[in-house]
Amino acid sequence: MPRPLLASIDISALHHNLRIAKSHAPLAKIWAVVKANAYGHGLERAMRGFAEADGLALIEPENALRLRELGWQKPILLLEGIFDAADLDTAAQAGLNFAVHSPDQILLLERAALKGPLDVHLKMNSGMNRLGFKSEAYRAAYQRLRAIPAVRKITLMTHFANADDPLNPGLPLLQQVQLFEQGTAGIEEERSIANSAADLMHPELKSDWVRPGIMLYGASPGGASAEQFGLKPAMTLTSKIIGIQRIGAGEAIGYGSRFVAAAPMIVGAVACGYADGYPRHAPNGTPVLVDGVRTTTVGRVSMDMFSVDLTNVPGAAVGSNVTLWGAGLPIDEVAHAAGTIGYELMCALAARVKVVES
Ligand SMILES: *Cc1c(COP(=O)(O)O)cnc(C)c1O
Repeated sequence: MPRPLLASIDISALHHNLRIAKSHAPLAKIWAVVKANAYGHGLERAMRGFAEADGLALIEPENALRLRELGWQKPILLLEGIFDAADLDTAAQAGLNFAVHSPDQILLLERAALKGPLDVHLKMNSGMNRLGFKSEAYRAAYQRLRAIPAVRKITLMTHFANADDPLNPGLPLLQQVQLFEQGTAGIEEERSIANSAADLMHPELKSDWVRPGIMLYGASPGGASAEQFGLKPAMTLTSKIIGIQRIGAGEAIGYGSRFVAAAPMIVGAVACGYADGYPRHAPNGTPVLVDGVRTTTVGRVSMDMFSVDLTNVPGAAVGSNVTLWGAGLPIDEVAHAAGTIGYELMCALAARVKVVES
């Protein structure tokens, strides 16, 4: 029998969540973001789930080519652009859109003898200070790009740090919006600004393209729960109880004996550990479902298993079904308990976990 740990991917949930993204920006076109193996869900599955998207956006050039091999004919966007001159040839041949965020990338384009047509996304650094041209340098970068004969479409692009927390004093959303508007004023090109949080919570930010990622997989970008946004979880991670111990008061569980029973209790070992992508830093008390009943982790997560409290789960036995996250247990709740975000848990799903479609 194979190990009982399974990640079930619900293609219809991907489909549903894409429609929710669309409903918030009915006039915009959608780049469905499929970086990092579609946030752990699998590139090929995501391609099917997002068949109605206007394009797929990701980071890795080799996976962009894989999407072409898999038959995706609509646009593909490289969100970090090209990494070297060879990528430029790849992008030109495969007809990939790519971000242009640095003077070095413009230089590569100027020096390459490419025929085009190339569609690029000129990225503004509107305050996140990772990639892009500052607002005041943007117009000059645009004009340099415009002067390259192989360049056809230039989409104006930026990325928000705090669309889920618009009054963040470190960088209010409005400040980013204003810098973007100033830097792009009068340039007649399409605009691409909204991630999931902006799509769901800021319909006032008009954008020709939206770039939702996390929401498409059924997790929340912040601001409200996935359920409140009408999103359905696309990944459900389940396993089984593979062992049971009855312990007395004062007995400890797992490495480092981090959890010590205050009273007699029943604990179950779940076949899932940090080598599967379950967060090792999940504290005692992280939520888990056993046979549909909500209970919690106890003790440290080890490589291949962790323990759960079965004291109040009637009928729990070896073979009981365990849900780590997904349908019935929002990934955001597990992430919150473990001090992280749903994004990280999804992306960390390990290669050894068997993936099935539901
Ligand atoms: C990852 C990414 C997105 C999607 O962000 P979510 O928060 O997952 O919606 C959008 N735009 C860019 C540039 C990205 O890198």
